[in-house]
Amino acid sequence: MSAAARRVIVVGAGIAGIACALRLARAGVAVTLLETRKKLGGRATSFIDPRTGEVLDNCQHIAMGCCTNYLRFCRMLGVRDRLQWLREICWVETGGRVSVFRPGLLPAPAHFAGAFIGAAFLTSAQKARVALAMGAIARCDRANHTRQTFAQWLTAHAQRDDDIRRFWEPVVVSACNLTPARVCAATALHVFQEGFLAHRDAAAIGVSAVPLLQLYDPAEAALRAAGGVLRLGTSVTRITPREVECADAPLLHADAVVCALPFERAARIVDGAVRAADPRFDRLAALTHSPILGVHLSFDRPVMPMPAAALVERPTQWIFRKDEEGRRVHAVISAADDWMPLTEDDITRRVTDDIRACFPAAASAQVTASRSVKEKLATFAPTPEAEAARPDTLGPNALEGVVLAGDFVRTGWPATMEGAARSGFAAAAAVLGEPLAGAIEPPLKPGVTVRALCPALAAMR
Ligand SMILES: Cc1cc2nc3c(=O)[nH]c(=O)nc-3n(C[C@H](O)[C@H](O)[C@H](O)COP(=O)(O)OP(=O)(O)OC[C@H]3O[C@@H](n4cnc5c(N)ncnc54)[C@H](O)[C@@H]3O)c2cc1C
Repeated sequence: MSAAARRVIVVGAGIAGIACALRLARAGVAVTLLETRKKLGGRATSFIDPRTGEVLDNCQHIAMGCCTNYLRFCRMLGVRDRLQWLREICWVETGGRVSVFRPGLLPAPAHFAGAFIGAAFLTSAQKARVALAMGAIARCDRANHTRQTFAQWLTAHAQRDDDIRRFWEPVVVSACNLTPARVCAATALHVFQEGFLAHRDAAAIGVSAVPLLQLYDPAEAALRAAGGVLRLGTSVTRITPREVECADAPLLHADAVVCALPFERAARIVDGAVRAADPRFDRLAALTHSPILGVHLSFDRPVMPMPAAALVERPTQWIFRKDEEGRRVHAVISAADDWMPLTEDDITRRVTDDIRACFPAAASAQVTASRSVKEKLATFAPTPEAEAARPDTLGPNALEGVVLAGDFVRTGWPATMEGAARSGFAAAAAVLGEPLAGAIEPPLKPGVTVRALCPALAAMR
């Protein structure tokens, strides 16, 4: 069957579903994208705060320079220029001391060496231990570390508890949404290899200059322009490899069905007999959720001088400045299990305490508005057990089964916008019968030094 003759239904218009549908439509496939909500973008979303009428994001979403498929996705939507790039990361300690990480003159993988040596929040002994472990990360094959946690890997590489708390944990928790004690070592190693060591542009942080909704809204026009159909407000109740049942609508038929739902929905909505015959669905039971908390705060005066900061050994992990002055800020707490039972007042108090402790200008500032957003089902928890259970795009019966997309599919990435975009492009390639290698955007090209010093890292890419 030619691509043009195919009819494909994609269920779920998060990043994975949009990426898949748009790629298929542009290849000439007759695509229908179904979404239960009235808006696009799934978990990367905005809402109107009923207290103020303001449009707020559920949480600050950051991309990195290494997210090549997410950036391609943004280019496909024509929104690449709505991302602003931060080239340096500030680590701020209690008392306000700031250490700035920006790439120096040395080539990757040593581009952060100067910043690291100058970092004030680590002792010389800590830096020596961290540097040795970083060298091991640059040389190791992460595929050999799927069965242990990152904390086990770090301990085996002479990292002490305070090294983990001060340096490794803030990076790992925000990138993987899980603590080193629980996260799969291979997943965390991936973050340091791809996100920091492989290329000097990999760690650049991209934040949206517009509410997330405006980032993904253009998908509607892009899909229509490519001949696809988008149906918002369409709740799918059952999926088989050739049929999609919706609430209050006739049964839809297709040559292939891509399920781009979150894993807990896929495990319910894919038809029971189809699930029973496909081992990918059994294994989904090993996946659990990890929550994220986003807190929007306004102060009566400017409190934050830099655009973004990681707070050293504070419960609040990251703070982003949301206006020019620094009166409005957004706090992010990943792996936020302990925060979920708290009231909004308690959350505001704790985050404000952290801000006051780290930013001298905030010492006597008063909060004028606060809104916290708890996302209990934010991402799957990438434990060693979950990583082993992540399903492939296709099951044993290939296109005779349901095609899967979503951040939980085995992409090699944690649950991120990059993972979602990759999974969407991979699902489109599977439907089109194209090889995966050509369908996925390659990683940033490693330079000569990375190829010479870290052959395992260069070979894995
Ligand atoms: C608070 C928070 C912060 C995050 N921060 C970051 C970050 O900084 N950087 C990063 O890269 N990632 C971040 N992530 C993760 C990122 O948002 C997700 O990995 C990504 O958006 C997942 O996309 P997806 O398409 O796989 O799934 P989803 O976005 O969940 O899309 C699935 C879609 O299916 C729809 N749907 C569900 N049920 C039905 C049904 N029955 N019928 C039809 N449609 C249905 C949903 O409404 C949704 O639109 C964060 C996530 C959260 C929640």
